[in-house]
Amino acid sequence: MPNALLFIGPEGVGKRSTAFAFAMAANCTNPEKEERKNLPEFRDMNFGQEAFATEACGNCKSCRKFNSGSHPDLIHLKPQNQITKIAQIRELRQVLAMKPFEARLRVVIIGEAHTLNPEASNALLKVLEEPPPGTIFILATAHAYDLLPTILSRCQLIRFSPIPAKLLVEALIRDHEMVQKEAEVLAAMSGGSFSKVLTLKNGDWLLFRNWIVEEIKTLNADSASVVLALAENLTKSKGKDLVENVLEMIKTWFRDLVMVKYSTEKIINKDLAENIAILSEGYPIKLLMKQIAAVENAQKQINANANLRLLLENFFLTLAENRPKQLQVL
Ligand SMILES: [Zn+2]
Repeated sequence: MPNALLFIGPEGVGKRSTAFAFAMAANCTNPEKEERKNLPEFRDMNFGQEAFATEACGNCKSCRKFNSGSHPDLIHLKPQNQITKIAQIRELRQVLAMKPFEARLRVVIIGEAHTLNPEASNALLKVLEEPPPGTIFILATAHAYDLLPTILSRCQLIRFSPIPAKLLVEALIRDHEMVQKEAEVLAAMSGGSFSKVLTLKNGDWLLFRNWIVEEIKTLNADSASVVLALAENLTKSKGKDLVENVLEMIKTWFRDLVMVKYSTEKIINKDLAENIAILSEGYPIKLLMKQIAAVENAQKQINANANLRLLLENFFLTLAENRPKQLQVL
């Protein structure tokens, strides 16, 4: 086992969960796993038998401490105001100068490794170069290119992929009582991120989507006040992150209106398949491509930190202008 691992992959695919599961399994005093009831939720996801061949029991004294977050030899460094600072690394070094309290393997998790500033990185590097015995470091990040090359070279890299949509759908149906078609929509919207799928679900994303879709269907360049009100509403009620999600949602909506002309199988908003098919008939593909281009343009501007309200106003006005005049509204 190397003394430093770096988990690289998108947000919400299980990097930190894996780090915790690893820490727990490495210290379980009864790895026979008859009882699995007390395991944290992520472990119930069916990733196949092999992935957890050496899993923790979830019941022994050590496992219970890990589960409750009270194990003294599990150290989890979190950024403070988006930065992991040198003071935190100094404090860590003091702790690491002592022997582990009780663990076979003390585990230091730095869950947002890209937030280490240069001073903190250099201080951490010294520890990684002379690792304290019985200790493993697990760094995780979605932005590996923000780490110092010297840190990267000290770690064994492990890549995490997006979670296949099929597994997300299974989890949503089994653990969150969703119906198949709705689960498929959220999984498709999530980009393979489990945390994002839960955010969408808990935010009643489908209801919100239905509302947005209705607004877009009826957008009319002749009633600018309605268009501007929609932009204002979204700017006030949703922050930049959510507006990014809204734009992505609108893009999948128009994409579906294009796709349905070729294959109903390939649309993302499967629960609205019938509406999409009818609406698409009155929507020439040329206009749909214009709408998609408008979304992509708005996405670029949002990345460039444009004024959110102005951006949305222009965006919705463009959508209204490109809308077919004789569109049948359901
Ligand atoms: Zn155990």
